[in-house]
Amino acid sequence: MIDLKDFEYDELIDFLVKNGEKKFRAEQIFTWLHKGVCSYDEMTNISKTTREKLEKISYVSVLKIREKYVSKMDGTVKYLFELPDGNCIESVVMRYHHGLTICISSQVGCRMGCRFCASTIGGLYRNLTAGEILNQVIFAQKDLGERISNIVMMGIGEPLDNYDNVIKFLHNVNHEKGINIGYRHITISTCGVVPRIYDLAKEGLPITLTISLHAPNNEIRDTIMPVNHAYKIEELLKACGEYAKITNRRLSFEYSLIHGVNDSEENAVELAKRLKKLHAHVNLIPVNKVEERNFEKGSFHDIRRFQEKLIELGINATVRRELGADISASCGQLRKKVL
Ligand code: SAH
Repeated sequence: MIDLKDFEYDELIDFLVKNGEKKFRAEQIFTWLHKGVCSYDEMTNISKTTREKLEKISYVSVLKIREKYVSKMDGTVKYLFELPDGNCIESVVMRYHHGLTICISSQVGCRMGCRFCASTIGGLYRNLTAGEILNQVIFAQKDLGERISNIVMMGIGEPLDNYDNVIKFLHNVNHEKGINIGYRHITISTCGVVPRIYDLAKEGLPITLTISLHAPNNEIRDTIMPVNHAYKIEELLKACGEYAKITNRRLSFEYSLIHGVNDSEENAVELAKRLKKLHAHVNLIPVNKVEERNFEKGSFHDIRRFQEKLIELGINATVRRELGADISASCGQLRKKVL
């Protein structure tokens, strides 16, 4: 059966026309889907015969809210969503002065194997469909009754390991007849799947790309991020440079500080040297505790020192504010709950 949210707008038109419907139905149906209706019966301006016909050949996918946690510290909301096949994914909504940002998942599990990350512990179960990625935004927005204005693809999974569905999702979530979030308000985070970075550069989407770098050299990166065995740091940074050149967008890098692994002054100096030409922004994240992993964050002073060293060497660096700490909503702590 077909989930209509897996179609791009033009594909939806084709599908409806092929099934004997008028073209303008696509706009009505697309808009209903993005409002978060759970069945065809809720599409009140669509005739009963059309609804019955659609029901036989397609369905309206939904995400069930299995659990919802609201941070008492900062209002961050974490959702455990249940997919139609019983798998679960997590999404987090953060409140900033400029509006609501949702952090969404792209896969059930992950096969990238980053040593410090909880999402990868059970490996990859499956990719999310384009509709399932979109549903996180739709159903969080519906539940909160507030507009979500920004999206970061930094939840569970590696977005560039589910490339086609992610691109479809981006086209749909940006569409003016639907949720209509501007590309400039969307960020994709990748651990560095180099060939897909080149592909993404050619899509012509003015989204922000952020790279999870976490190390200044191959020696360290090899030990914490298995993807580095496939694509060395030099190849990765070359791809990043090309991406910036083609898209004319500024890059940003994420760097989780792990005490005694990648947070020395020498590491900061080497990192600055690597990134100097890229005019990039560095987001420092004190590594979050994951039960199965024995990585520790440094002290507040260690982190400040690392940041100051980068700034001194001409690199724009900020320390990521931790949100939702009381509900395990922070980077790397999302995981498929064993239910
Ligand atoms: N697969 C994508 C997006 C998911 S992770 C990527 O790798 O970018 C989102 C960010 O959280 C990444 O930068 C990731 O490296 C980081 N992260 C994962 N586990 C973490 C942890 N325990 N502490 C801090 N950051 C973590």
